[in-house]
Amino acid sequence: MDFDWSPEEQAFRQEIQDFLKTELTDDVKGSIFIDTPERMDFVTKMADKGWLGMGFPEEYGGTPAPMPLAQFILTTELDRAGAPIIGKNVGTIGSTIFHVASEEMKREWLPKIFRNEGQWSITYSEPNAGTDIGSMQTRAVDKGDYFEVTGMKHYITSAHFCKWHWLAVRTDPDAPKHKGISIFIMDHETEGLSISPMNTLGREGTTHRTNQVFFDKVKIPKERLVGEVNKGFYYMMQALDYERFAILSFASRVRRFNNIANYYRDADFGGEKPANDPVTRHKLARMASRVEVGIMLERLAICKAQEGVPATEAAMNKAWGASIGDEMAQLGLELAGPFGGLWGCERAPFQGKLADEYLMAGHARVAAGGVDTSKSIIARRLLGLPNALGKPELPGK
Ligand SMILES: Cc1cc2nc3c(=O)[nH]c(=O)nc-3n(C[C@H](O)[C@H](O)[C@H](O)COP(=O)(O)OP(=O)(O)OC[C@H]3O[C@@H](n4cnc5c(N)ncnc54)[C@H](O)[C@@H]3O)c2cc1C
Repeated sequence: MDFDWSPEEQAFRQEIQDFLKTELTDDVKGSIFIDTPERMDFVTKMADKGWLGMGFPEEYGGTPAPMPLAQFILTTELDRAGAPIIGKNVGTIGSTIFHVASEEMKREWLPKIFRNEGQWSITYSEPNAGTDIGSMQTRAVDKGDYFEVTGMKHYITSAHFCKWHWLAVRTDPDAPKHKGISIFIMDHETEGLSISPMNTLGREGTTHRTNQVFFDKVKIPKERLVGEVNKGFYYMMQALDYERFAILSFASRVRRFNNIANYYRDADFGGEKPANDPVTRHKLARMASRVEVGIMLERLAICKAQEGVPATEAAMNKAWGASIGDEMAQLGLELAGPFGGLWGCERAPFQGKLADEYLMAGHARVAAGGVDTSKSIIARRLLGLPNALGKPELPGK
């Protein structure tokens, strides 16, 4: 397999890096989520360059792809630089609309996404439906001209800044749980929809806000149904296969590891240099090898994605990447000793980011299907081990 980048790909990468030098200002940095006006403007500048729709057909507002891996290169460079990323809007919602929605819906919604006309929330999780997402209870009842939605969601990122919800709800309560779910596009500003903040653990000042979202007989027009009724679970699973490598790249982990390694290469604690300590050296060397494996797994998933949905490779990439992110956060804290958990003072290593990364590592372990779900996929699809019902699932099935 040839892992070298072509001259065109290198040129595109350079163009993004040049853009980031001028546009990635301090008020844009700091979160991968597009949840402030400054971050929204930043993404709109990329939209104006035609980068968001790169690779999608022109009739849907896209631009002809100069290269198949353009979206991956863009995501990698944004992630490497610590910029807001576009994978949720383009990689998950845009791709699903492109693959399963009606012609009218593609023509209406894809251009809105590629022009960055508004922010989206992915509105799936409920108190009893996280990993086991098929157990969701929020109902959409067919009322003839419209559906009526009642229920609640939680942990919804960006709901306090979104224009639309990419909403999964139960449309058939009598069907087996995976067969009665549908996806809708719902306006955030709709009568009967309300939110309340649900903050998750994070460093002071950078707490990651998620939200509870409540639906009290919210009307949603029928033309907002995505694809076919009751097929939502399958659309979500397909999108998750892409999310497991399209939303985040491994680049941010490489950046974090380089930060840690560079810090300990030069650190000098009153004459004691961690770089001379064999235990520190071994721990860093072990992590360096694990980072290299992560880079290769991601490339494998990307190559396989050129042929079809890379379910197994994406699961391996997800499980490895999130576990390594977690290990790296622990290593950073461990090596920094009592100073590791500090922020907001001169002695805090890495401007106090270690504690923040440690707390956020847990999010990566459960996001996009989670590490345990990914391991189950690998067990079934790669190794052919029986599924939960005891039935063997052969590789590739
Ligand atoms: C910061 C943050 C942001 C989020 N943003 C969003 C968002 O924007 N939209 C949205 O819809 N959701 C969002 N979520 C929710 C997220 O998708 C869920 O937390 C995730 O699906 C896990 O569900 P849960 O929290 O109910 O945990 P559970 O499903 O109860 O899982 C708890 C633990 O058990 C493990 N586990 C569960 N079932 C199995 C099994 N069958 N086999 C092996 N292990 C298992 C899990 O891997 C996990 O480690 C967010 C969560 C966080 C923390």
